[in-house]
Amino acid sequence: MRSETNLDYEVVVVGAGVAGIYQIKRLIDMGIKATVLEADADLGGTWYNNRYPGARFDSESYTYGYSFSKEILDEWHWKEMFSGQPENLKYLNFVADKFNLRQHMQFNCRVQSAIFNESEELWDIKVSDGRELRCRVLILALGLLSQPTMPRVEGVEDFQGRSWHTYNWPHEQVDLRDQRVGVVGTGATAIQVIGEIADKVGELTVFQRRPNWVAPLNNSEISPAQMDEIRARYDEIFETCARTPGGFEHEPDRRGFYEVSQEERYELWDQLYDEPGFAIWLRNFREIFTDEEANAEISAYVAERIRGRVEDPEVAEKLIPKDHGFGVQRVPMETGYLEAFNRENVQLVDISETPIERVTETGIRTSDGDYDFDIIVYATGFDAITGSFDHIDIRGRNGMTLKEKWFDSPTTFLGMMVSGFPNLLMPSGPQSGSASTNYPRGIENGVDWCTEMLEYLYDNELGYFEATEEAESRWTEHVVKMYSVMLMRKAQSWFTGYNSNVDGHEAGKVRYMVYNGGTPKYVATIADVADKDYEGIRFSNDAHMPVEVVTAD
Ligand code: NAP
Repeated sequence: MRSETNLDYEVVVVGAGVAGIYQIKRLIDMGIKATVLEADADLGGTWYNNRYPGARFDSESYTYGYSFSKEILDEWHWKEMFSGQPENLKYLNFVADKFNLRQHMQFNCRVQSAIFNESEELWDIKVSDGRELRCRVLILALGLLSQPTMPRVEGVEDFQGRSWHTYNWPHEQVDLRDQRVGVVGTGATAIQVIGEIADKVGELTVFQRRPNWVAPLNNSEISPAQMDEIRARYDEIFETCARTPGGFEHEPDRRGFYEVSQEERYELWDQLYDEPGFAIWLRNFREIFTDEEANAEISAYVAERIRGRVEDPEVAEKLIPKDHGFGVQRVPMETGYLEAFNRENVQLVDISETPIERVTETGIRTSDGDYDFDIIVYATGFDAITGSFDHIDIRGRNGMTLKEKWFDSPTTFLGMMVSGFPNLLMPSGPQSGSASTNYPRGIENGVDWCTEMLEYLYDNELGYFEATEEAESRWTEHVVKMYSVMLMRKAQSWFTGYNSNVDGHEAGKVRYMVYNGGTPKYVATIADVADKDYEGIRFSNDAHMPVEVVTAD
């Protein structure tokens, strides 16, 4: 193996979140000179940034942790079934420290551009600190929800109180006592915040444009004895996750929806509603995701549960979605969200009836009047999945930008490569197996596959790889086909690329963001590609292709 002196790194990984942490571990184990460039001041990605009250997993904690290290599994004690942000960030630091990964990470380094240098077949990267770096392989581990979007409403800058997007909730403690707080949005994030802060603030006003279906999280503590039981079951837990569509422990009910009576269905739902986590969503009949009638029935059931928990019937009706059915998008899990609206100090403002006109110096003005606040919280979502790619000037062959290529909708090969963008990998890219599943389960598959592909590259003394156009078209067509059978295609959510605050992402146009075929099918497909010597990928070892893997520092 030879070395190439004009390379700063053999591989640059962008992003030190859940995916980037595992990716750098695998690269360092290979003996590759690699680094992680992270825009934030420290590692953790989602769990570094989202510090809003109530931020926690909707995956069972022990299915969210990494599975690759027995040491980690043996040593880490999850304290809650659905662990909160501070603990989750601690966990990621624990993993990084355990394997001394921090020395391979550079913080406060926002990648501004990554341009493929065609003559040398290398990536030229510009970093916000002014440096220019070169690497052969670029791995983008950017995270799915890391570009927060503020509402496109006039006057946001005029507000004289404190305000922030939930993603940028201050790192220091915020004293909410006696504060008049406005929350804009009722997505999964707002639903966690509202449930958590309703009894801690002076007054809480929630601005809802469209309601979301919700279900109780049913969180609980995990005692040391329970943790021992979980540890003893880890192999079984990860095996189950590997065979379920979403990478969770929850397995769909194998009985056909129409094979059982309505009474039996309601019996099942009564039981699932009170179980932890996504049980009511993912241990349900499979038809609820694809069959309008089945979906209408579960929606009617959940609507009744909402009516049973919200005292004011008018408010209850406002909290029940009418434009989409239960479970056609990821279901926000809540703790006391619905009950918050039974409190004297909480009010719901339906801005579908009385729209927000502007933010003022003192609060929010709707068509119905002014609401004054000390704090405004924007829980207004993200430019999901492709947003973080769009924020970097990424150029492949012939100067093509990724942003232009993906303008209408992303196109990829296996969600991990893009034709026209050689030597680029995305273990958790759009249309990959990570985007719609229990994220760490998905990224471990993605990172393992990307790493093994690089091993193949080096073992065969190759230095260039690129998905063919044909392979990319085939995969993207498959992704599109998977959408066509899901009711999800009709919902306005980030799974279909909807975000009213981003140009080109408005309602009515589907962007094919995620792979809906489920974990087992995805894993079988990527394994098959590898088994066939990475069919669909063009390799070469032309000029500039010496492939010494430079040993780590
Ligand atoms: P979101 O689901 O996109 O919700 C954004 C909310 O803001 C929606 O209610 C939206 O209303 C509202 N909104 C946006 N722009 C607005 C405007 N200009 N005026 C008024 N309202 C506006 O975002 P999110 O709540 O941050 O959740 C995103 C994803 O993050 C979730 O689907 C989930 O996958 C993930 N998440 C997971 C957890 C967890 O438990 N692990 C927690 C939080 C989030 P419209 O619907 O009308 O656009």
